[in-house]
Amino acid sequence: LTYQGRTVRFDAFPMGIDARSFAEQAESDPVLAEVARIRSESSSQRLVLGVDRLDYTKGIVGRLHAIALLLEREPDLRGRLRFIQIAVPSRANVPEYGRLTDEVNRLVGSINGRFGSASSVPVHYLYRSVARSDLVAMYRAADVMLVTPLRDGMNLVAKEFVASRVDEDGVLVLSEFAGAASEMGEAILVNPYDVDQMAAQISQALLMPAEERRERMRALRRRVFDYDAHRWAETFIDELERTREFAPAPTLRLSSRRELAELEQRLRSAGSMVLFLDYDGTLVPFARLPELAWPDHALRDLLTQLGRSERIDVHVVSGRQRELLERWFGDLPIGLHAEHGLWSRLPGGIWSQPLAVDNTWMERVRALLRQFAMRVPGSFVEEKTAALAWHFRSADPEFGEWQARELQTHLTHALSNVPVEILLGDKVVEVQPHGINKGLVVRRLSASTANAVAVALGDDQTDENLFAALPESGIGIHVGPRPSRAQYRLSDVAAARALLWRLVAPEVEAYTAGSADKRVTLFGSPE
Ligand code: UDP
Repeated sequence: LTYQGRTVRFDAFPMGIDARSFAEQAESDPVLAEVARIRSESSSQRLVLGVDRLDYTKGIVGRLHAIALLLEREPDLRGRLRFIQIAVPSRANVPEYGRLTDEVNRLVGSINGRFGSASSVPVHYLYRSVARSDLVAMYRAADVMLVTPLRDGMNLVAKEFVASRVDEDGVLVLSEFAGAASEMGEAILVNPYDVDQMAAQISQALLMPAEERRERMRALRRRVFDYDAHRWAETFIDELERTREFAPAPTLRLSSRRELAELEQRLRSAGSMVLFLDYDGTLVPFARLPELAWPDHALRDLLTQLGRSERIDVHVVSGRQRELLERWFGDLPIGLHAEHGLWSRLPGGIWSQPLAVDNTWMERVRALLRQFAMRVPGSFVEEKTAALAWHFRSADPEFGEWQARELQTHLTHALSNVPVEILLGDKVVEVQPHGINKGLVVRRLSASTANAVAVALGDDQTDENLFAALPESGIGIHVGPRPSRAQYRLSDVAAARALLWRLVAPEVEAYTAGSADKRVTLFGSPE
């Protein structure tokens, strides 16, 4: 994605843990001693473990309901099942979390009241954090680990449990809504909203044969160790480095003040000059609908002054249709070029179409573009003499861009043997005969640019042809944030107009008294 002149890459980097450090700690003497202590404490009991921040996303309430349901359904388990839930206090000053704490406390009390006895309580609820060696000991001592969040980006506890099981035993029950689930398919995957089924799956975990437990745990461990925190960091850094390959080569910074002063000096001191000006995005900002982007008085004034100048030849080179350019600028002393150079009209002359074009492809493309216009609300098809355009400026931006890429793919397949070009402009996909592009206009006028400086201003992909066709001595000026081959870059339409204005200001000032004031009223601030 190119965003504000920068290249941004997106990718998914599932986070790993430092698996080796958990495995090493799981075999350390203090942890082994603690594991033995826990096991002897609950000698004939099956140990089920939960470790979470006390957060409503973690599914602790549903998990407790599932434990209650299990004890209700399977009376044999009463006195033989010990569920340890560690709940690390989190955001305790937020009222919602306070209410969650109360609810969990009540639920634990009610389960222990219903299913406990003088000698045993089923739920051991620890509302605090524990030291890491104690945590690893509990991971290692547990028969079943319950990780049942309603939503979780990843969930590291699931991976830590697996890394700590150097004995290749223990069963992981994992919510399908934890990010970790997409990497840990060998766990028992549960829907944390379905308490009934969750109870059945905890029972299944408790009954799982040793061989199956080992198979599943081995597969899980392989993945947790392969893609650990070190691999994760390496991959991330490598991909970050690789982003440079995707960065557009031309620089995206705006021309500096010094460069602009130098440019202005070059333009002013040039004997004669041919100006190629794109219209939309360069001389006027984009409007929601193309027909709303008509020229304001200030622009017509500017083009008139430029056209009148003895030393400047002005050409507006647009993708728009000739009728519109004629209506807007027909009375000005400037050259007009419509449909990316298919039609041309020199100052004071008449429109001509210098190239014969093949239109036979249009019917097929029209049908396809209309399909997209129906599919994407706010988009529409524009018909030109030899081109068709699908505009999506008023569509939902993300859906529009996505569908534009789809359309491009369809068109590329459908038109593989047809001599047409598919252009992606600013919020428009356009199909036109091959070889018709704005560069044509520059080449057609090469005789008049021979002894003059050729200068082009443009903002989108279609203007790159304009820049490419300039002679070596020519000057390309890009307007806006997109990548471009042009030597200079201005921020926006206002900056482009201000620069053009300064080309003729000295001449106009010679005629117009109080011209300084006029400049301000015409352009706002000329700076
Ligand atoms: N954790 C901890 N103290 C404890 C219990 C757990 O620091 O008393 C750690 C646990 O080892 C894990 C992290 O807290 O690394 C929880 O990360 P997870 O991705 O599972 O959930 P999060 O809290 O980030 O939503």
